[in-house]
Amino acid sequence: MEKVLIFDTTLRDGEQCPGASLNHSEKIQVAKQLEKLGVDIIEAGFPVASPDDWKAVNAIAKLVKKSTICGLARAVEKDIAATAEAIAPAKKKRIHTFLATSDLHLRYKLKMSREEALERISEMVRYARSLCSDVEFSPEDGSRTDAKFLYKALETAIRAGAKTLNIPDTVGYSTPSEFGKIIMGIKKNVKGVDGVVISVHCHNDLGLAVANSLEAVKCGARQVECTINGIGERAGNAALEEVVMGLKTRKDYFANLTTSINTKEIFRSSKLVSSLTGFPVAPNKAIVGSNAFAHESGIHQHGILAKRETYEIMQAQDIGLSANRLVLGKHSGRAALANRLKQLGFDFSGEELDKAFARFKILADEKKEIFDEDLETLAVDEIREIAAMWSVKSVDIQAGNKRKPAAEVILENLAGKRFTAKVAGVGPVDAAYKAVDKIIGEEVKLLEFGMNAVTEGIDAQAVVTVKISTKDGRSYTGKGADNDIIVASVRSYVNALNKVLGSAQRMQLAL
Ligand SMILES: [Zn+2]
Repeated sequence: MEKVLIFDTTLRDGEQCPGASLNHSEKIQVAKQLEKLGVDIIEAGFPVASPDDWKAVNAIAKLVKKSTICGLARAVEKDIAATAEAIAPAKKKRIHTFLATSDLHLRYKLKMSREEALERISEMVRYARSLCSDVEFSPEDGSRTDAKFLYKALETAIRAGAKTLNIPDTVGYSTPSEFGKIIMGIKKNVKGVDGVVISVHCHNDLGLAVANSLEAVKCGARQVECTINGIGERAGNAALEEVVMGLKTRKDYFANLTTSINTKEIFRSSKLVSSLTGFPVAPNKAIVGSNAFAHESGIHQHGILAKRETYEIMQAQDIGLSANRLVLGKHSGRAALANRLKQLGFDFSGEELDKAFARFKILADEKKEIFDEDLETLAVDEIREIAAMWSVKSVDIQAGNKRKPAAEVILENLAGKRFTAKVAGVGPVDAAYKAVDKIIGEEVKLLEFGMNAVTEGIDAQAVVTVKISTKDGRSYTGKGADNDIIVASVRSYVNALNKVLGSAQRMQLAL
C-alpha cells in the first residue's frame, strides 16, 4: 500500500476565514483532536500574523507528538524566522513557505519579474532549510501559472532543498481533468521531482475542491491539504472527511492507496470544529451531515433491511457515529466525569475539572439523562472560557408578558474582579445583552442569533450561536451552552466579544 499524506490546515486556512476565529485554548483542543484523528501534518497557523498566532503555534508545537507541526511563512526572511522559532519545540516540524507564480499575481500583487521570483524562491527555500530540515514550497495561484514557468519555479525550489511541492488551486478555478493534467505535467517535466512529495491545496469556489484533490491523487499527488468540514476562505477548502472517505470507500478505484487517518474520529472532529468555530454543518453535507447516513425513505429501508449494501456504501460506525449513549447520572463522581471526558478527548484536571464538575452536578440535577453529547457540549463550553477575558458568573432575568423584561448580569474579568449591570430591555435576551454591553463597553452589532437543542427532549441543553460585527466590519461568531436559554445566550455573546477583544490586528493572507 502507498500512503497519501493528510495535511490539515483547519487551524490556518480554516481559522483565518471571517467569523471562524478561535481563541488559544480552542486551537489547542482542535490540535489535540487532529492528532487523535491521525493527520500526518498539522498546519497550526501563520506565526507572523500576530503575537497570538505565534503563541498558539508554539503551544501546539510543544504539545503534539505524533503529527508534524507546520507553520506558514511568506517567502520573506522575517516570516520564515518567526515560523522556525514558533515550531522549534515540535518533535517533527516543517516550514511551509510560498510565493505567487502566476503572471497575474507577479505583475499586480508582487510587482516582480519572473526572474526575480525564481531568485526569491531559491533564497528563501534555502534560508528555510538552514533552519528546518523539512521545507514545503507552494507556488501560489499554481493552477493559473504558465506551465513552463511553473516547472522552473518547482525545480528551483527542489534545488534549494524543498521536500514537498504543494500546488494550490488558490482561487478554486480548476476542473478535475485540467488539474490532473497539471500534476501529470509536473511529474513528467520537473527535474528531481521523484525525490519530493507532490501536494495539492484546492479551494471550493466551484464546488470542485475534493474532486480536484482526488484526481490529483490519481495522477500522482501524495499529499492532500484539507480542512475539517471543508472550512476555509470563501467557499472553503477540500473537506478532509470527504477526501479520506473517498479514498477508503473507493479503494477499488484508487488502487493501493491508504491514509493514516483513524476514520472513527471523523465525526467527533467535525463536531468539535463546528461547535468551536460556530460554523454549522449542513444536514446534507457529505460524510458528516446529520442526514448523511439516514436512509429514511421506505424503498431504501426495505433494501437495507434485505441487504445493507443495496443503498449504503459506507457504515456510520466507520466515521465514529453511534447512537446517544446514557453515560453518567446525578450520582456520578468527579473521577467518573474526568474519565468519560478523557475518553471523549478532553483532558481536564485541577481547577478546570472542578469547574466542569460543578456544572455537571447542576446539569445532572436538572436533566434526568446525561448523554455523551451533553458532556461534549459542557466541555467545549468550558474550553471557551479558559483564560477568556470575560466569563459569565450569573444571569438573573425578569421576563414574560406581565412585567417589563429586565436582566441582571454579573461578569468576571481575567483578574477575578466582578462587575454587575442591571438593565431593562425589549425582551430578556435584549436586556441581558445590554447589561453585557454596559460592563464590557465594546461597540458591536448583532448580525445573527440562533438556537439549537443538544439532544432530544424538552429538558435538553441549548446551544446558542451569535454572529456579531465590529465597527471595522469584521465578523465574529460566538457560542454558548446551558440548560437555560438566556444563560446560553449570554455565554455565546460573551464568547464572541472575547474573540473581538482577543484578536489583535491580524495579517490576512490567501493561498
Ligand atoms: Zn488556501
